[in-house]
Amino acid sequence: MSQFSNQFSRRKFIFTAGASAVGTVLLNGCLGNPPDSSSNTQVQQVSSAANISSEQAPETTKVKLGYIPIVEAAPLIIAQEKGFFAKYGMNGVELAKQASWGAMRDNTEIGSSGGGVDGGQYQMPMPHLITEGVITKGNQKIPMYLLAQLITHGNGIAVANKHKGQGLGLDLAKGGKAVFNQLKSTKNPFSAAYTFAHVNQDFWIRYWLAAGGINPDTDVKLIPVPAAQTVANMKTGTMDAFSTGDPWPYRIVKDKIGFLAVLTAEMWKNHPEEYFAMRADWADQNPKATRAILKGIMEAQQWLDNFANREEAASILGGRNYFNLPSEILAEPFQGKYDMGDGRVIDDKSMAAYYWKDEKGSVSYPYKSHDLWFLTESVRWGFLPPDSLANAKALIDKVNREDIWKQAATEAGINTADIPTSTSRGIETFFDGIKFDPENPTAYLKSLKIKKVNV
Ligand code: CA
Repeated sequence: MSQFSNQFSRRKFIFTAGASAVGTVLLNGCLGNPPDSSSNTQVQQVSSAANISSEQAPETTKVKLGYIPIVEAAPLIIAQEKGFFAKYGMNGVELAKQASWGAMRDNTEIGSSGGGVDGGQYQMPMPHLITEGVITKGNQKIPMYLLAQLITHGNGIAVANKHKGQGLGLDLAKGGKAVFNQLKSTKNPFSAAYTFAHVNQDFWIRYWLAAGGINPDTDVKLIPVPAAQTVANMKTGTMDAFSTGDPWPYRIVKDKIGFLAVLTAEMWKNHPEEYFAMRADWADQNPKATRAILKGIMEAQQWLDNFANREEAASILGGRNYFNLPSEILAEPFQGKYDMGDGRVIDDKSMAAYYWKDEKGSVSYPYKSHDLWFLTESVRWGFLPPDSLANAKALIDKVNREDIWKQAATEAGINTADIPTSTSRGIETFFDGIKFDPENPTAYLKSLKIKKVNV
């Protein structure tokens, strides 16, 4: 597929099924391209893989997972590079870098048998929209399973340098609003980009604008633009803002193109962000392999949350095969250090990206209440019809397979204290005081001043 830019150099592991169906991993020559030389880890994973019980041995060791080179993909890349996939018998994982979210959707549609992918990293609610055929070609319904959350935080809204010093911060009602009003009266309204319509980045910038009294549908121009193109447009002054994940916002600051107006961690502390999902047909055919992949992801998430590992993580992710950028661009935000570029400096570990646990509990576990927020927000902006709320529970129950997450966590020996007992994280509170009660999404919609839906 030309849409792929899979520069990935796969590890040369060979998995051969042993007599006991336990399997033996042989190392064939070089260990691939981890930037570290932690050969101990590799040896460990060999012995660990050999200890997989026959009940847990995966049906296949091969899977193709798509990712976008932003920090959300870290659990997939770390599971691959630190040998956590292989530890659970999945030594044939191929990570396929995607050129765009549109490519990720298209490659999910065709599956690995058609040259695409079996699953990977998704913004929300892409898995639900693909399941329902909302964003697929010919509205073909392709059932998907949401299996884990990959990350919280790590996203932000960057604004072009020309708007510096005009109050464009967390709360636009404090003065920044004037910039939008002034531009609205010209033929060039404030223009902002996100990478794919009707998903996270679109929601974050809309929430921020609307909370500040700016209607994202009538006061500004919001358009999907690929990340690299947006940076070029910000340089030439034709783009005012950009909503995306690290390293892009930070890169804009480092390259002195713009500043960070707000981090998503400031808007909604410990918010749901991107997820790991797979095609349901693949997961149904390979339930043990699905759990093995999840176990590898969970182990990578725990490894990533150890701040002592984050310098190494930044170096692995920054590598040529993955993000291809200087690792310090990732290293500072990984420690919760954000030079916002407008004189503001955030140095707070609780604002960093978390992969396994945050202040509110599990990051990895996919709470159904968070799926509901994304679907409710889709209704807020008219991306989905209002009656979607009545059907939301049925759709979430079909797509969100937190039961598989729990089964994998139990098999991996995760502490029971780290396995949530409720599918709801409860009431969520945003920076502007708005509350989302998953028991009553309509009340949330009613409480919002700026919205497209009539409730
Ligand atoms: Ca994101």
